Amino acid sequence: MEERYNPFTGKRIVTGVDDPVPAAAALGLEPPRFCEQCGRRMIVQVHPEGWWAKCSRHGVLDSKSLDRR
Ligand SMILES: [Zn+2]
Repeated sequence: MEERYNPFTGKRIVTGVDDPVPAAAALGLEPPRFCEQCGRRMIVQVHPEGWWAKCSRHGVLDSKSLDRR
């Protein structure tokens, strides 16, 4: 089974257990701080158009890639 981590708390997500996400984060306003795939702390950079977060193992996650219109 694949492991997932809460991108805002870095805690491991357990199926069946509610994992609260901050309201601002749920709206995509808050950048994630941890990698969802490994739980590592990411390098986060916020810029006027959004943010990007980099995991040393899984690469860059960009707010634009999550919000396509
Ligand atoms: Zn990662």
